[in-house]
Amino acid sequence: MIERLPTPWGLVRSGVAPDHPKIKTVAKVFEKIAADPNFRLFANVEIGNQLTVAQLQEKYDAVVIATGSALGKTLGIPGENLPGSMSAADFVPWYNAHPDFATINPPLDCETAVVIGAGNVAMDVARMLALEPSELDPTDTADHAIAALKTSSVRDVYISARRGPEHAAFTSPELRELPKLEHTNVVMNKADIDAAIVRAGDAPEKDVKSNLDAMLLIAESQKNEHERTMHFLFQHTPKEILGTDKVEGIVYSTPNGDVTIKCGLVVTAIGYQAADIDGVPYQNGKVVNIDGRVKENLYVVGWAKRGPSGVIGTNKSDAAAVVELMVSDLKTPKLAGDIAELLTIASVIDQMAWQKINEAEVAAGEPLGKPRKKAVLREELLRLGGH
Ligand code: NAP
Repeated sequence: MIERLPTPWGLVRSGVAPDHPKIKTVAKVFEKIAADPNFRLFANVEIGNQLTVAQLQEKYDAVVIATGSALGKTLGIPGENLPGSMSAADFVPWYNAHPDFATINPPLDCETAVVIGAGNVAMDVARMLALEPSELDPTDTADHAIAALKTSSVRDVYISARRGPEHAAFTSPELRELPKLEHTNVVMNKADIDAAIVRAGDAPEKDVKSNLDAMLLIAESQKNEHERTMHFLFQHTPKEILGTDKVEGIVYSTPNGDVTIKCGLVVTAIGYQAADIDGVPYQNGKVVNIDGRVKENLYVVGWAKRGPSGVIGTNKSDAAAVVELMVSDLKTPKLAGDIAELLTIASVIDQMAWQKINEAEVAAGEPLGKPRKKAVLREELLRLGGH
């Protein structure tokens, strides 16, 4: 397994919201596989830089691209490039201690933040902005993010959907969690939900019904005693981000005309696309493939294969199907050398080195009641790994 960062686990480390520690327990499955003597990790190795896909294809029977979708989609509206407007593709790895996003410093000196999108990523971002920050103390949120959120002036977080509640991409377990937030009001307009229930008709799809039930519960049990509030807006299509040298507001078009919200931070969570790798064909933000087969002995799994949809379980079954395909394709195994011959860099993080990093982070977190205290900078990670 080759990884660009000094740490494995991909989105489990740098994507999953830190207040959802249960989802991260899938890492135990990764570590079980990593304990197999036939598994080897080569982290801190970048494809395209230190090694090419073509070189790997020559040396190995099968090469699998599992690089996900790292780039945030953009809205294409005026003002999107103003400071204070950013993608969830930058904001999420910032609070998750990804080394490349440690210094993005989202402006939190404003009362109001806006999150665009009605999916689970938008929900994660809005929750992180609207939680009482001390709730993050017992999590593995990056220290720099906890410190910034503790001094944040943000009290109102708007999460906006361009369509009605019946079309929202949130999943119902995430919605059902919202009324349980202990220090945050969650506001949904009951009239919006009632109208969506009417539009959805007598026999809505199971997921739509489950979502609308969960939203009705939120709309009927609103609190207003807390200092921080998450507001849901439906049928709000972003039109323009306002400001001269930084974000000052956002204009939406709605069925009732244009609406302006004053804000200092806009986070766009409207989906992702894959970042290119040399030697791999891409189209529409995905690797060109048929059922996971790209060309010759090159395969793809996960979001890079299907696009950025589906939860961890979706990707597990998807990967299993591609592995079956690989096994059935395999004819005579190659006897052609080893990746180690191709690597000239000294600072490869192997499984042993990663275990050192892992143990150091877990040990540093323990006295603080955290599952781990993440190291952020590459140099620090390499040092912990023994380099
Ligand atoms: P998503 O579920 O596809 O949601 C994207 C949202 O962005 C949709 O509401 C979409 O609205 C909206 N959107 C797209 N283009 C837009 C535009 N130009 N203007 C305004 N809105 C726009 O994507 P995601 O939130 O990035 O999540 C990706 C996958 O990861 C999903 O399968 C999600 O469930 C999963 N995930 C799961 C969890 C969890 O289980 N806790 C956490 C995070 C992510 P339209 O429908 O109108 O296009």
